[in-house]
Amino acid sequence: MASKMEEEITRIKTEWDKTSEYMYIKQMERVEDKMECVFKKMIAEMESVKKEMENLEQDREKKTEKFEKLKEKIEKANKVKKQAREQIQILQQLDSPLEPEESVVAKIAQIQQETESFPEESGESNNWDEYYMKIACLAALRSKDPRTPVGACIADKKSYQIVGIGYNAMPYVKTRDNDKIFSWSSEKKEDEKEKSKKGEISKIKDHYVVHAAINAITNRTRNKLDGCTIYVTLKPDEDCARAIQLAGIKEVVYCMFTRNEKRGENKDMMNGEKFLKSNNIELKDLKESVLNKFDKNEVVKTLNSRILSPPQPNDDGPYKNALTWEDFFMKIAELSKERPGQFDTTDSRTGACIVSPTKQVMAVGHSGYPEDMELGEIEHNKEYITHAEYRAILGGPIVRGCTLYVTSYPCETCAKLIVQSGISAIVYGKPSKDPYPQRILQECLSNIRPKAD
Ligand SMILES: [Zn+2]
Ligand SMILES: [Zn+2]
Repeated sequence: MASKMEEEITRIKTEWDKTSEYMYIKQMERVEDKMECVFKKMIAEMESVKKEMENLEQDREKKTEKFEKLKEKIEKANKVKKQAREQIQILQQLDSPLEPEESVVAKIAQIQQETESFPEESGESNNWDEYYMKIACLAALRSKDPRTPVGACIADKKSYQIVGIGYNAMPYVKTRDNDKIFSWSSEKKEDEKEKSKKGEISKIKDHYVVHAAINAITNRTRNKLDGCTIYVTLKPDEDCARAIQLAGIKEVVYCMFTRNEKRGENKDMMNGEKFLKSNNIELKDLKESVLNKFDKNEVVKTLNSRILSPPQPNDDGPYKNALTWEDFFMKIAELSKERPGQFDTTDSRTGACIVSPTKQVMAVGHSGYPEDMELGEIEHNKEYITHAEYRAILGGPIVRGCTLYVTSYPCETCAKLIVQSGISAIVYGKPSKDPYPQRILQECLSNIRPKAD
């Protein structure tokens, strides 16, 4: 009986095992089914992602193609624009306003139409950068630093006005020669350490000299310099960078007029660069784009040769051949004729510079049409040309008690304006035979003389 029962148990067990095995298999199959379903879904998803990626790639290719085409178009535009400028220049060089040929008129109209929608070429802004940098170079030539003269010029690019000029100089001393009080020595740091050990006061210029950018800012002719651009002949260091930021200046354009090629990598200038960048002030090095070409300019050449000439044996004293005030202001007036703009080409160009009794450059002017005037057919109408001194007097701040430096003797209209503006002295270049301006100016002003040779 027992064995029968045992047999029965074994049978049931086996059956059960079979059943559970079966169940297990079934279960596995279900899982597999489910998994396959998920798997299929995943594959489908991957396929769709792949497809999307392919589409994107195509899109990207299309965009690149479009971009290349646009670039080509811009290049073509610049070429056409250049041609147009040349054509216009040729026309301007004709002395009399001849009726240009029909084909020329048609060509110009076509070029104008073609260029209307083109983006502005960067050349124009480069020309302005060059002009303001030349003023900064000229300012550097006023410096008495025997080794590293530096100049700075602040410009308001919206109103085309120069609003501050400076160069590195010793602190101002009223009624005495500051260059005789402070030393321009640039002796080595080691020597200096030796001296300070002995309790001697250092003569090294770094302790005393005020940098060009600081002087340009303190010489500003308006209270606020918000949004202005400063041009400096050397990259600003930390001190100058702080001053630039506080003054509200938004852009720094610099050159490296120095005999030390690695000067820009020194700590003080790297710190200045970091400071400016962290304050969202743009920093632009002119070297690559412009310097080579404008190296031919006389002011730039003079500055370069002064910097590159070997240092004087005794460089404690001030540099001997710095520009005189009169040469400086007259050269600024002359330089204004080199600025970009809508010039009077039928007349000889003139330039003007107005200077305050404390030697600040208050305004600079040139003869021409207003910068943003639409010229068209009125271009050769002399009546629309504003004279240099006229523009300087009315375009800038009030100039009572100031001195006017002008490249040629003023005309009758300007003479009247000069007197009314309160200008008290005139230094002029080219003389004039016109009796009326002479009558007006000689009656009203006590101080009027030609520029000294
Ligand atoms: Zn500085
Ligand atoms: Zn005039």
